[in-house]
Amino acid sequence: MRKFPLQLVSRAAQWCEPLLGLFFPNVCQLCQKEPATKEEGYVGEGCRQGVKFIREPMCDRCGLPFDGAITQHFECSNCKELDLAFKWARSSVAAKGTVLEVIHRYKYNRELWFEPYLAQLWLLGARETLAGEAFDALVPVPLHPHKQREREFNQAERIVRAVAEEAGLPARVDLLERVIPTRTQTKLDRKERAANVKKAFSVCKGLDIKGQRILVVDDVLTTGATTSACAQALLEGGAGEVCVWTVARGL
Ligand SMILES: [Zn+2]
Ligand SMILES: [Zn+2]
Repeated sequence: MRKFPLQLVSRAAQWCEPLLGLFFPNVCQLCQKEPATKEEGYVGEGCRQGVKFIREPMCDRCGLPFDGAITQHFECSNCKELDLAFKWARSSVAAKGTVLEVIHRYKYNRELWFEPYLAQLWLLGARETLAGEAFDALVPVPLHPHKQREREFNQAERIVRAVAEEAGLPARVDLLERVIPTRTQTKLDRKERAANVKKAFSVCKGLDIKGQRILVVDDVLTTGATTSACAQALLEGGAGEVCVWTVARGL
């Protein structure tokens, strides 16, 4: 279908980049009513207000937030049911309202100008943990090449590239590959999701990750089945420990 050499397109985009700034008004792309800059991902102050950062108490394993007081070690029913391979998963914000709209438009409509905002959310949530715990690399959840061709980009990979420098960690976008194209997860229940993705990932041949501590990155975590399958593949490939940080958490 594609008649244009991609390089030419991306070179044209680079050329146009400074010009785009002239044509893109500094207006929030959600409400169209308040100022917002390119650096802010065109999400204004007002629209940011309703975004809910995830705080304690939460499930120790998957980071699912809870109302009320939990004072001791706690695992939610989802985590008891699934045999999750990651040590823990956390997300910066709840996947609803503004955040959900931004992620959908970013992912499915290619509204890439939202990217700085998603990167900021990821960093705001993860910063404190990253300062206190040592990781060796950030690894995005890979898309199968078929799907990546269809969508033309992998949102997880783009988020990893956008946060890596500030996170102070290498972006290892070459580490994992999706070896089996999986059915879309949205209509499956949690056990079906786990079965669907179980053997979908593999560490690329010839890469040594022995003993490494890896942080897997994605846009949204729902049941944790996909990121757990990534963690499983990384552990089988020699990683010492795998944790997960996503921008948003499906509740
Ligand atoms: Zn707004
Ligand atoms: Zn849990």
